[in-house]
Parts: sequence; C-alpha cells; structure tokens
Amino acid sequence: METDVAGVAQVSETGPVPDNARIDELLEASYARAMPHDEGTVADYIPILAEADPEAFGLCIADVDGGVHEVGDTRAEFSIQSISKAFVYALLCEQVGHERVLGMVGVNNTGLAFNSVIAIELNDGHPMNPMVNAGAIATTALLPGATADDQWRLLHEGLSRFAGRDLQVDGEVYRSESKTNHRNRAIARLLESYGRIERDPEAVVDIYTRQCALRVDARDLAIMAATLADGGVNPLTDEQIVSADVCRDTLAVMAGTGLYERSGEWLFEIGLPGKSGVAGGLTTIAPGKVGIGAYSPRLDAAGNSVRGQVATAYLSRALGLNIFASAPRSSRARHRQGHLT
Ligand code: GLN
Repeated sequence: METDVAGVAQVSETGPVPDNARIDELLEASYARAMPHDEGTVADYIPILAEADPEAFGLCIADVDGGVHEVGDTRAEFSIQSISKAFVYALLCEQVGHERVLGMVGVNNTGLAFNSVIAIELNDGHPMNPMVNAGAIATTALLPGATADDQWRLLHEGLSRFAGRDLQVDGEVYRSESKTNHRNRAIARLLESYGRIERDPEAVVDIYTRQCALRVDARDLAIMAATLADGGVNPLTDEQIVSADVCRDTLAVMAGTGLYERSGEWLFEIGLPGKSGVAGGLTTIAPGKVGIGAYSPRLDAAGNSVRGQVATAYLSRALGLNIFASAPRSSRARHRQGHLT
C-alpha cells in the first residue's frame, strides 16, 4: 500500500480538529502530496468504468458541525460501487438489529479479493463480512420489504438521507454491470445453495447492482462519512439516519474489512475505518470529528483508489485522526502548558 507519509508528523493528540483555516491548509497540502501519484489503473471489468478520467481527483472533509472543505473535482460524479455496502449494512442493522446481522453476515475479514467465490466455500457457505460481494449481496437480501421494489425503496431513501440529497442511479453503469455481473450472480446462487439467501437471487443481485450504480461525488462521500462520525446524524440536514450503536458497529466492520485484503495495511497506516469502491471513491470516518471523501479512479491491485489513500494517510497524520495514536499523559500536559512546541 503506497501512503507516502515520509516526513509527515503524526499528531498524537486525539483532541478536537484544528480550526477551519488550518483544515483548509492541510487539505491543500494532502491534495498536492497525492497528485503526483499516477500509479495504478482504472477499473475495466465493468466496461463503462474504463471511460473514467484517470486524472480526476477530488477531496473533501465534512466536519460533524456541518463545515465542508473541498479541493479539486469534488463535484465530479461517479458510481458509489462498494462504498454503498457500508451504508446498506448500517440501514440493515438499524432495521433488524446487531445479533441477527452478525449471525447472518459476519464481521471477519476473508483475506481474499472482494469478489472471491472460494472465500464462501472455505467458510462453509458463510459470506463472512458485509464489505465483500458475498456479504453485501446477503445484506441486501435481508433488507425488509414485501417485494424487491420495497427493498429498493428503503435502500435508496436510506442512502439518499445519508448524503442529504436524492441520489440517482447511473443508468449506463447499471446496464453495463448488469450485462457483465455473471460472477455476482454465481455468488448469489452459491449463497442460495447454502441457505443464506431466501429471496430470488436474481432479484437480489439486481438491487445490489443498482445500489452500486448510485451516483455520488467526493462531497457526498464526506457527508455520508460525517453522518457515521456523528452518531448517525447528518451534519447538514440534522436528521438522525441510524442510531449511534449502529454507527459504532458499522465503523468496526469497516475498520476490519473496508479495504478488502489490504484492510490490515490500511488500519496500520491510516488508523481509521474506511471503505473503497472500484469507480475510485474512498470514504473515511474519524469518529466524533470528520468524514473524508475522496475520488480518483486509478486503483491499486486490491481495487482501492491510489491518490485517495495517499491523501487520507496524510490527513490522518496531520489532523491527528488516527484512533490508535496517543502520547504519554505527561508529555501531553507539558505540551498544553507550552513547554513543548
Ligand atoms: N459493483 C461492483 C462489483 O460487484 C462493486 C465492487 C467494488 O467496488 N469493489 O463488482
């Protein structure tokens, strides 16, 4: 995982985030740091995604008080893809509760690619976690609703409320993925064979494909993340979308599994819950503080935005967001008294 944090001081005081002017300054610095990173490739296994502008790069921080800081292409829209998994999971937990979702979907990392079939077989048909395709498809299948349309309505309204605006499905992306998603359909059939999906697997994959095709921009991802950072309250609309308990559960799952087989490295380098998508989106949550949304379509081998990771690693250090960072109590006290600079 390329994070390029050499020379960036780790701020270990996990107190409040700095003032707005300093956030803007660090946002610009993180953007400049990540921009030269032109390694990685744009996803093309969903044909339409190959048409994305590889140079596009937007970065946004939304704080829990409603402040929004933006740099670059923050209003360029792209399909949310796997990032939807985290928010659909939160909606399901809100609807059916912690215990049931834990049993049906699980929370452990597979250590394998997001669309792995063998991970299902290796785990006796258990989908393992909601951030890989098997677990995400099982999650979508569990959404309450008499019909697939009812399930879609709940999902669409829920994700729109997280973003604070009515999200639209990108018809081209939906059609392009629908024509080529044989693997996801195979995953759904396999889950059905293990009794993990009780609804029509074709209809479930269709909803899953539509949820992945919802259009967002980097700013939306920051606001959706800030909602999870603020106990489930959208900082722009002040609406409670899910409970604080659901946020805690969702963030724990994201921390362990949000970047697929690179989740361990991500947690080690960035120290925050996050979720990536193959269209180049990346959303990161600093609980109680901020949400970060990034968009840059060039991906590493696991399918995570390269520039998004570099910029987020910088911000985690420079803003003191890493949830594992601390300094000895004595040095913090001296720092506050002005003895240390
Ligand atoms: N819709 C994509 C898929 O199922 C999402 C994958 C991703 O973003 N990693 O393949």
